Amino acid sequence: MSSKYKTYKVAIIGAGPAGYFTAQAFQKAQTYELSFAIDMIERLPTPWGLVRSGVAPDHPKIKTVSKVFEKIAKEPNFRLFANVELGKDISLKDLRDQYDVVVLATGASKGRKLGIKGEGLANVLTSAEFVPWYNSHPDYVQTQVDLSCDTAVVIGAGNVAMDVARILAIDPIELDPTDVAEHALAKLKQSNIRTIIICGRRGPEHAAFTAPELRDLPKLENTDVFIDSKQIEDAIKRISELDEIEKDLKNNIEAMRLIAEQQKKAVARKLEIKFLSAPVEIKGDGKVAEIVFTVNKVEGGKVVATKDTFSVKTGLVVTAIGYDSIEYPGVSIESGRISNIAGHVEHNVYVTGWAKRGPTGVIGTNKSDSNDVVDLVIESLKEPKTSE
Ligand code: NAP
Repeated sequence: MSSKYKTYKVAIIGAGPAGYFTAQAFQKAQTYELSFAIDMIERLPTPWGLVRSGVAPDHPKIKTVSKVFEKIAKEPNFRLFANVELGKDISLKDLRDQYDVVVLATGASKGRKLGIKGEGLANVLTSAEFVPWYNSHPDYVQTQVDLSCDTAVVIGAGNVAMDVARILAIDPIELDPTDVAEHALAKLKQSNIRTIIICGRRGPEHAAFTAPELRDLPKLENTDVFIDSKQIEDAIKRISELDEIEKDLKNNIEAMRLIAEQQKKAVARKLEIKFLSAPVEIKGDGKVAEIVFTVNKVEGGKVVATKDTFSVKTGLVVTAIGYDSIEYPGVSIESGRISNIAGHVEHNVYVTGWAKRGPTGVIGTNKSDSNDVVDLVIESLKEPKTSE
């Protein structure tokens, strides 16, 4: 006897955190009347997206969320089709026609560019190349990374910049017990880099770092971390003039103040965080040799350029300034995201995660984001259908 209730066929494209949390939201939304058969489609042979190829190897706790993903995958209404690429092996049109609902959870894998002269020089990499290189992403195993110089510069004041800088700064023996890529560990063990400078274009009070990540820095056993106390004092003065200081900002500044004032170990490995430094040109003959910065200042609450510049001799620049979604036939990109209204793309197509909201938030942020999108889907399934 056939049930009068329909099982909706759902295709989720992308097996990263946003994809899994979407599957979980569909599983949790099931009732006697409403059920879903979920097919997850993933380009790579392995699932888990950024949990596998984005999270820093020395932060294994963050990766334990994969246990949640395993539980979701064990539910009887879930199937994973790996090694299937949207736009190549299957089109969005086919998916739209074959499924009741399609949710794009394809992330944002294209590293943003500074758009300055010299960015095309060898050994100027985006975090979208460098991070998957040390995390064994199959597309980036062959990435050319030269660690023969003594100083590396990382552009951006976010947690990805911090991950990149830490991986370069850490004594590789501290990475031995981790799942860092073998090829990367071998290179890091041969690395001549002993000074890593993170450069943020705005002030300490504008940094996108989060306090737990900042608090981890002084725990590095074989690396000294430097922040200019004057830059922190100036930032404290500026924020003291604000009507209200948010808790996160207070925590961040306090974590940075402690780093600035921390007794140094006088070890060879140095990680420096420099603020109010905007990159304007990368110089070199075929390969990066120097990066030039304009010194910024904060004036009346705004960050403005001064006439002062400085440059750093460096053989490696990694930019960690955010990510954009890649384009697929059938979707349009707006400000680096798949064009959508609150997660709805068009017809029965939805989007979630970084592809929806841009590259912001921690892994858990995708849970609430995906819950919202699934709520929207369920609302639309309840609506009487009009011909489109
Ligand atoms: P992000 O947090 O948005 O930081 C990007 C940084 O790049 C900002 O400091 C930004 O400065 C700077 N930037 C942008 N354009 C620039 C330009 N043209 N020149 C110089 N600097 C520029 O991005 P993210 O670091 O890629 O991280 C993405 C998300 O993943 C974040 O939500 C982050 O917290 C999360 N994440 C979390 C962890 C963790 O929890 N352990 C680890 C990694 C990533 P402005 O502010 O001036 O624009």
